[in-house]
Amino acid sequence: MSFVQVIPLGGADEIGKNCNVVRQGDDIVVVDCGLSFPSEEMLGVDIVIPDFRYLLANRDKVRGVFITHAHEDHVGGLPYLLRELQVPVYCSPLAAALLRPKLEERVGAKAFDLRIFNPGDIIEAGSLSVEPIRITHSIPETCAMAVRTAQGIVLFTADFKFDFTPVDGKMANITRLGELGREGVIALVSDCTNAEETGWSLSESVVKNGLRNAFANAQGRVLLTTFASNIHRMQQTIDVAAEMGRKVAIAGRRMEQTIEICAKMGYLKLPPGVMIALRDSTQYPAHQLAILTTGTQGEPLSALVQMSKGEYSRLQIQKGDTVLYSARPIPGNEASIWRTVNRLFRQGATVLYQTPQPIHVSGHAHQEELKMMINLTRPFYLMPVHGEPRHQHQYRRMALEMGHAEHRIFEMRDGVPVCMDERSAWLGEPVEFGRVLVDRGGEPGISDDVLRDRSNLSNDGFVAVTVVVDVDTGELVGPPTFQHRGIHAKPEAIAGLSEFIADGLSTFSRDDLKDVDRVRFDVADLAKRHLHKKAGIRPVIVPIVVEV
Ligand SMILES: [Zn+2]
Ligand SMILES: [Zn+2]
Repeated sequence: MSFVQVIPLGGADEIGKNCNVVRQGDDIVVVDCGLSFPSEEMLGVDIVIPDFRYLLANRDKVRGVFITHAHEDHVGGLPYLLRELQVPVYCSPLAAALLRPKLEERVGAKAFDLRIFNPGDIIEAGSLSVEPIRITHSIPETCAMAVRTAQGIVLFTADFKFDFTPVDGKMANITRLGELGREGVIALVSDCTNAEETGWSLSESVVKNGLRNAFANAQGRVLLTTFASNIHRMQQTIDVAAEMGRKVAIAGRRMEQTIEICAKMGYLKLPPGVMIALRDSTQYPAHQLAILTTGTQGEPLSALVQMSKGEYSRLQIQKGDTVLYSARPIPGNEASIWRTVNRLFRQGATVLYQTPQPIHVSGHAHQEELKMMINLTRPFYLMPVHGEPRHQHQYRRMALEMGHAEHRIFEMRDGVPVCMDERSAWLGEPVEFGRVLVDRGGEPGISDDVLRDRSNLSNDGFVAVTVVVDVDTGELVGPPTFQHRGIHAKPEAIAGLSEFIADGLSTFSRDDLKDVDRVRFDVADLAKRHLHKKAGIRPVIVPIVVEV
């Protein structure tokens, strides 16, 4: 008897690094391969990706990676997976256009196999097949994925909302979702990010009036910051700017690139004569200018953050500027966002982040939309993902209120398979999973030891202790010497270090002193003990034993 497994490798009980697996016998289909951003204690870490060991251990079974949409939390891990595993990647034309330059840069021009699908295509993947279905979200061409298995359809909603006035006019294919429900959805793997929000989410189109108001009230330049991937938002900003007789310039390389690709492919419609180069913006009076920029999350290298520090050479904030924050903070980024906002105020700008008429709406379904998805697709099992445990819990409560049986609702956890056959569903043995940290150098796999060292270095500095040993005689040559960086303590606590180590080593026999490894270990141990006792600090100690 065959059974089917749904295995989240990332993004189940967290927001970020989405990566899901459907397995039936020897066939594996992967849905999304994303990244997440580091928390503040992950010093020097740029991004976090899923641990791919399960996929690598089953490399001959992986039939393809299917991309629901081109947000970083769904595609950002791909370059790292594709370096280790040659496997076709299926995605929409827009996702392909946005992904291709990144994959060429990070994987190599010929080393990947991108295949384009359109909603309604059915893609064979061994004994499984996958059908993308159009859904609405904050980036065009987002697709739910119906994976057909021997037990029925496993339906991934992707990130979604039901927007009946989408900016590009392309509705979710509700009819198809209903048909799949009739055919038999065994499991609905659903977005639950906004499960705590009651009612319906607002349509993206609502933002246009908010922007009109904000633009109308701005005396000087308008700077609007949003995600480079929020194509609908950029379209509405450009349209409103054109309406109000403002030219639009772009500050930020990524955003410039995205706008260029999207305009070329027709996803962005640029009214003639509105777009100008940033360097030409000085030729226009402030009230005729709008500037689109990135940096909503306080990313240190983004144009907006650099502007807030007065370090962006291409554009300076000036008195009378209005900065519109058209995005929601990703949890964990609040501190750096507020720092940026405060710096912008100090430079004389007015920053708007909450306005009576919204200048931002969420791309994720509220409760009534989540219920509508359940009612349309009539799943046997419910599997909330793309949420923290509190969101999953709320989704469960909502499903219970709708009359769904408790034992059919699975609050999914990374690494824990849910197995389903004709009769029942059960939790399988956890697979290898976890997070892999990547730093600025781009090499994945920063270990906990390295993180601990970085944390200790940043808190307590470091000390290098040098002892010189004559290996012929087994005697110390001179007293231990040391250098330190980033240490703050009473001078006498540090001054006694050399003597303390010399005293400690004086108990060593001549043979002991010839054992360099042991001396190195003991020097580190002595230095650690002394500095902790006398100064209450735990710096990183680097013992150096020189043999003469
Ligand atoms: Zn997402
Ligand atoms: Zn998304």
